[in-house]
Amino acid sequence: MGVVLLGIGSGCEVEDEPMQEPLVLEPQAPDEVVAGKAEVEVLDGVAVASPPPGHGVAIEVIYDDGQMELITVTTDDEGRVAQHDADPRWGLVAPPPAQAVCPDKCMDDRMSLTGWHWNGPIRWYYRDAGRPAALDMAATIEALVDGAAGSPSARDACFLPDQVGALQGYMGQTNVAPNIGIFGDSILCGFDDSTNVVGWADLPNNVLGVTCTWFANGGVATGTDMLYDDAFAWFTSARVPAGCVDQYSLRGVATHEFGHAFGLGHSPGNSCNLTMYPSTGPCNQGMRMFGWGDVLGLQAIY
Ligand SMILES: [Zn+2]
Repeated sequence: MGVVLLGIGSGCEVEDEPMQEPLVLEPQAPDEVVAGKAEVEVLDGVAVASPPPGHGVAIEVIYDDGQMELITVTTDDEGRVAQHDADPRWGLVAPPPAQAVCPDKCMDDRMSLTGWHWNGPIRWYYRDAGRPAALDMAATIEALVDGAAGSPSARDACFLPDQVGALQGYMGQTNVAPNIGIFGDSILCGFDDSTNVVGWADLPNNVLGVTCTWFANGGVATGTDMLYDDAFAWFTSARVPAGCVDQYSLRGVATHEFGHAFGLGHSPGNSCNLTMYPSTGPCNQGMRMFGWGDVLGLQAIY
């Protein structure tokens, strides 16, 4: 399946295509049960609003050293809240990407899934407020659209067949802020507000980006919001700019973040050349092109 782009005023309609039977994951044993709290602090200075019964929220935090954490909080039908660390084996010490010891991305079939999928396209908006002055608005939107389109098109470096029925549509700009609160030095995933927004904020605690994805516990995703740090240096081009120093690829990071939104987890082990590996480096465009395991994950979900 290809990517579906909905331009502003294009009048195009997204066809909700019949989905393959989604993969059903075994429920994880909770790491910690934290019933009765309105908020759950999942990392230092990072929290989520406790989901309503029968729902969950996942938060991905990218730090400015390129390390990432993906954590899920669910509330069962009885109101018991549980936290799951998707990468308990790593903490913040995943090796940097593109090491010689890591398998080639086209030889590496490892992947993990978050357990949710979308029934129909991810329809998302862009909020321009706070865009770094160094970035052009049109180029920024183009980079985010490029990142969002990576999963549905199974954009890979390995000439793999697409066979991915995921869809997304860029719906234009909005003034609605992503439902991710910044309170002093703290970040909070709020509640699902049914408007999926990608925007900018001055994120605290060396955080480069944050993605919140909301889902029903049966596995259907209901919303996703993303914030990127407006104080950080990004590049929006498809190629690493000449003379690049400490700039991160907006296309590459957005490809990874939308990969989570679509239901991909972090690839395990030393899979550091795959897009869904939880670490990236500056002046690196490798994440933009999926590897074998990434595409296998998408095919398993869609
Ligand atoms: Zn991640």
